[in-house]
Amino acid sequence: AELLELLAKDTHETLSIQSSPISPVSDRQIGDALKAEAFVAHFQPKISCLTGGLVGFECLARWPQPDGSMIPPDQFICFAEQKGLIDALTRQVYDYALANLPLCNLRNQLKYALNLSPINLKDATFPHWLRNKCCEHNVKPSQIILEVTETASMENPLVLLEHLTQFRIYGFQLSIDDFGVGYSSLVQLARLPFSELKVDQMFVKTLASSKESQKIVTAVVGLGKSLGLNVVAEGVEDVSALGLLQDLGCDEAQGYFIGRPMDRVSAGNWNGLSGLS
Ligand code: C2E
Ligand code: CA
Ligand code: CA
Ligand code: CA
Repeated sequence: AELLELLAKDTHETLSIQSSPISPVSDRQIGDALKAEAFVAHFQPKISCLTGGLVGFECLARWPQPDGSMIPPDQFICFAEQKGLIDALTRQVYDYALANLPLCNLRNQLKYALNLSPINLKDATFPHWLRNKCCEHNVKPSQIILEVTETASMENPLVLLEHLTQFRIYGFQLSIDDFGVGYSSLVQLARLPFSELKVDQMFVKTLASSKESQKIVTAVVGLGKSLGLNVVAEGVEDVSALGLLQDLGCDEAQGYFIGRPMDRVSAGNWNGLSGLS
């Protein structure tokens, strides 16, 4: 059921994209796709709750198929992690994203969020590699936000702290992703060098309909603000959720109501949320 929901979700991404048949992905297929440099990224807009203006994009991995469909990341990231291919995959997706950022006037002011696998955090050479990539593509490290899941931040705190700190020293920003659904990590949140908190979409999607979600989001936004973090809500699917987030003082919003993940051309032409005052 989860897979079907996922496929349905991606079918709607753009009109030209069709869901691919559900078949387990082999490491051989991922290896071949890596050799062919097949992996790409799509870009989902993120807006300021205060002004409604575009603040940046989250870059999301995609695997295009010969029939024009796209395999979504939940169908290959975990296999790549298991088969020791995630280092190569992450570098390929980042390289694509940085070389193909949406073309728009604000290019040099926007922020670009990239997702990190927990395994990437064990690789001591990665921060330096990323710094060089940014330099190569004329992107300032301060424009890059690395999204790390809450669960990932629980393992091996000392090595984690060292590698996260290295990213910060280079000027990258760090975001704790999917906050609220993993292990309780309030201590980590305060002690690790994060600059942003992303409220998990599970709570945001149900914001308008569930009192419980409203209470959780209120608390999490308040927590993030009191720690001085930039607070982002993702999974904004309707106007009422966006209104509530604005009332709560949430900084930024992302979700299907605002814009779906898009290829670089559509993302470059994206001109805001119509009807938002
Ligand atoms: P995530 O980082 O939590 O990214 C948000 C996911 O929610 C994306 O799914 C996005 O398309 C979807 N989404 C955004 N707004 C809405 C909304 O309003 N409603 C609903 N129902 N969904 C929304 P996607 O692109 O399929 O990515 C799934 C997950 O795969 C990501 O979750 C992230 O954990 C992982 N991922 C994506 N790209 C990469 C990558 O380059 N590297 C790694 N390691 N993981 C990635
Ligand atoms: Ca993310
Ligand atoms: Ca998330
Ligand atoms: Ca997620």
